[in-house]
Amino acid sequence: MDADAIVIGAGAAGLAAARSLAGRSLRVIVLEARDRVGGRAWSVPSARAAVAAELGAEFIHGRAEETMALLSEAGTAAVDTGGESWTRGEGGILRRDDAGSLSAFGIFEEALTLSGDESVDRFLRRFEGDKAMQERVRAARAFVESFDAADPAIASARAIANEWRSGVDFAIARPLGGYRPLFEHLRNACATAGVRTYLSTVVRRVSWRRGAVTVDAKSDCGESRTIHARAAIVTLPVGVLRHGRDETAVVFDPELPAAKRDALGRIEMGHAIRIALCFRTAFWEQISDGRYRDGAFFRCVGQPFAAYWTQVPVRSELIVAWAGGPPAAALSDASQAELIGRALDGLGALFGEPALVRKEFEGGIMHDWIHDPFARGAYSYVAVGGGDARAALAAPVDDTLFFAGEAASNGGQGGTVNGALESGERAAREAVSSLCASR
Ligand SMILES: Cc1cc2nc3c(=O)[nH]c(=O)nc-3n(C[C@H](O)[C@H](O)[C@H](O)COP(=O)(O)OP(=O)(O)OC[C@H]3O[C@@H](n4cnc5c(N)ncnc54)[C@H](O)[C@@H]3O)c2cc1C
Repeated sequence: MDADAIVIGAGAAGLAAARSLAGRSLRVIVLEARDRVGGRAWSVPSARAAVAAELGAEFIHGRAEETMALLSEAGTAAVDTGGESWTRGEGGILRRDDAGSLSAFGIFEEALTLSGDESVDRFLRRFEGDKAMQERVRAARAFVESFDAADPAIASARAIANEWRSGVDFAIARPLGGYRPLFEHLRNACATAGVRTYLSTVVRRVSWRRGAVTVDAKSDCGESRTIHARAAIVTLPVGVLRHGRDETAVVFDPELPAAKRDALGRIEMGHAIRIALCFRTAFWEQISDGRYRDGAFFRCVGQPFAAYWTQVPVRSELIVAWAGGPPAAALSDASQAELIGRALDGLGALFGEPALVRKEFEGGIMHDWIHDPFARGAYSYVAVGGGDARAALAAPVDDTLFFAGEAASNGGQGGTVNGALESGERAAREAVSSLCASR
């Protein structure tokens, strides 16, 4: 055997799992397709703005205990987002307390009283006749599209309600200096604990039987690698696990049990497009007599890029444009230049300053997560009837294959970095008890 455990993927879940396993004196090998760790968290230093541009995860949602513990270990901290929220609608641009959107989201509590599950669209249609509810319904749908990156026609109303009930805390912060220090810390901690990590190594096949796993992988220069271990922790994104069509598919031999395949069929990969727009100056702080100086979030009703945000409380020249759910899917075939153009048009319309936005613009940075073969989407959400799908995805197979990753996080934190970290530690505990029992 080359190792006790192979960890597939070096994102938040994989690194958390590898560190935990190695901390129990197990021999661990991590295989990662990209030439870097971090997966869907990717901070890119920007020559144009003082802050790093996050191409994937940026925020910390709620209490996020695992994330906060890691930040503290890494000698860094979190900064609350704070600032003001503004919404552009038919009546112009208005200051809007975030509590408004959150109370709209509370509409989903009623979904818990339904006898069965239904889609968000169908659930919200129940309120359509009530004029007084229309604004809340619109805001709730927009929130599902933007925050969950989900398609309301497919997303489970009950899962959204449970997420709400499980006390999802909408407080948001950012890691000080971005996510990079946290992932550098995790990577170093893995190396110190003896984890062997192979980057640019794409897993193609996972052959398994109780107590034995063989993983076949290929490096980016075409070199084959075969590794044998007693167990594997699989942290592949749902989009990758579901993808079975071409040479980028990961083949399980024998195939995963029906319950696992069924769970994968009830979890969807949400679409999101985020673009970091860098400007010559923070011009929005000056326009309209400084009205938007403390603006943190700007929502644009009915626009493809439904949200823009600044880095407040940090003052910088960077604004992020965000499209989520069906509007993001609809834009998925546009070129990066076109997307940046659309994002700038939206920002120009938001402030009523199209010429100024173009004049101040210096450059845009983004990553296409939708077509990225190692992600195949942004983050997961539960489809109608998929109430138990995250738990089913997380369940070990034959005490040999263990599953982690944001989609396998079952405590209302699916879709987040913290959910991924938590799931990695949980899968490592499961693997440790099985590996140590059979030593
Ligand atoms: C645009 C965007 C914005 C986001 N914003 C936030 C946010 O603000 N806050 C938040 O908490 N979360 C956010 N998320 C979600 C967050 O990034 C993810 O939930 C989290 O990073 C997932 O971690 P993971 O370990 O489960 O998966 P990943 O990070 O995807 O790790 C899986 C790893 O497996 C590797 N892999 C894939 N295929 C193979 C293969 N065949 N062989 C070997 N390796 C392979 C991948 O390269 C990847 O490194 C965002 C995501 C996106 C895309």
